[in-house]
Amino acid sequence: MVFDIKPHEREIFMLIEQAGAELDFPTYVVGGYVRDRLLGRPSKDMDIVCIGNGIKLAQQIASKLRPIPRIVVYQRFGTAMLKHKDMEIEFVGARKESYRVDSRKPTVEEGTLEDDQNRRDFTINALAVSLNAQNFGEIIDPFGGLHHLEHKVLKTPLEPGKTFSDDPLRMMRAIRFSTQLGFAIDEETYKAIAKYKNRINIVSKERITTELEKILKADIPSVGFKLLHKTGLLELVFPELAELHGVDYKNGKGHKDNFYHTLEVVDNLSKKTRNIWLRWAALLHDIAKPPTKRFDPEHGWTFHGHEALGAAMVPRIFRNLRLPMDGKMKYVQKLVRLHLRPISLTKENITDSAVRRLLFEAGDDIDDLMKLCEADITSKNPQKVKRYLENYELVRTKLKEVEEKDKIRNWQPPVSGELIMKTFNIPPSREVGNIKTAIREAILDGKISNDFDAAYAYMLEVAKSYGLHEVNP
Ligand code: ATP
Ligand code: MG
Repeated sequence: MVFDIKPHEREIFMLIEQAGAELDFPTYVVGGYVRDRLLGRPSKDMDIVCIGNGIKLAQQIASKLRPIPRIVVYQRFGTAMLKHKDMEIEFVGARKESYRVDSRKPTVEEGTLEDDQNRRDFTINALAVSLNAQNFGEIIDPFGGLHHLEHKVLKTPLEPGKTFSDDPLRMMRAIRFSTQLGFAIDEETYKAIAKYKNRINIVSKERITTELEKILKADIPSVGFKLLHKTGLLELVFPELAELHGVDYKNGKGHKDNFYHTLEVVDNLSKKTRNIWLRWAALLHDIAKPPTKRFDPEHGWTFHGHEALGAAMVPRIFRNLRLPMDGKMKYVQKLVRLHLRPISLTKENITDSAVRRLLFEAGDDIDDLMKLCEADITSKNPQKVKRYLENYELVRTKLKEVEEKDKIRNWQPPVSGELIMKTFNIPPSREVGNIKTAIREAILDGKISNDFDAAYAYMLEVAKSYGLHEVNP
């Protein structure tokens, strides 16, 4: 079969062919680019394999382009990368790999195109397109990759046990591709994942997390997490999430399975947002349900405080997964901590002060929090779903009203710590913090109005109870 070369590809393909011919290096496009193009998915990364030296090939090609592009050379890997238009093209010599038991980094030697295709993870990733004059554009498909693309199947080119045992990251990749592309995993391939799951321990956390994030970015992330769970990989790579699985019964009462509930929330939310951190928040919102689970003879199963404990667990989980420990983590933590607040608002009659308080704590993330809460409705009872959604609609209206009135979102109390110190001529101290908090609370509770004069007067009143008097009015 011949690859349908698009006009924008022809120029660079011809150039690669020409450079390859000059150096006497047969050249091929391989892997993900070929796969994605055949699937009609956009692709900006192109891998070129040559029978020869990839760095020399890249240099030869660069010398023909105007302006001459910069090449990034990775001597250690024998690869070179150049940017052309909006494409990143990577060049490497065909290689043959052999693995040792304790490492996923193989010993590499020069090889044939066939050797190079043999070392690839799935048949659909082992397709090559010839860029050589005698069969330009022909698809070289030694393992039935085209057939598997058509039938949406992931299958390893060689014996799956060896493929996964050699480089266990491929197990994560199988599940990730299955989620991203909506492909089934071939039965033998699947069985080998379950069998060799423990080999995942030789893979770095960073690599594993990259795959987890790709799963979480997919249209229906639950597909991947369910596969991770069924193959037994989940408890190895993300034990806290695996813990959510299962239902306990006592006195004939069960609770919902928090693993499947969580995945439903993630899927619901994924229809509304591509924000990966909001998706992480959904994945983690109930993460502390297992450690807070109690059975109360009167009320049945309870998970009191799971939002606070969950928020406390977020930093450790992020660290373990090598996720960034910056504002993103804080954002996820905040959403986990606040995820029950909008619902508790609907349970009381909604007071302005409760709304102000939520607005103050959530700040600009209030809209994301509301999205998370709406996604958290997984009841199968349409009446209930309708009622919950209406309740949240009411909360949204109330949030808008209070925000328009009080502008609490990015609010700072009108009296600062500096002013308190100056007014009473005191150094930074616990009193300053206490006075500041008292003013903030009074405003949030609606005890005093949200303006400077009211806050100043209130400050004097509170300070008096500490025996402080105005020295710098
Ligand atoms: P994506 O770019 O979406 O991550 P990809 O398949 O293009 O998917 P890359 O990491 O870009 O993945 O790798 C390009 C190609 O290199 C793959 O298509 C595959 O042929 C090969 N490859 C990558 N990682 C592995 C691996 N761990 N084992 C075997 N082959 C691999
Ligand atoms: Mg790629």
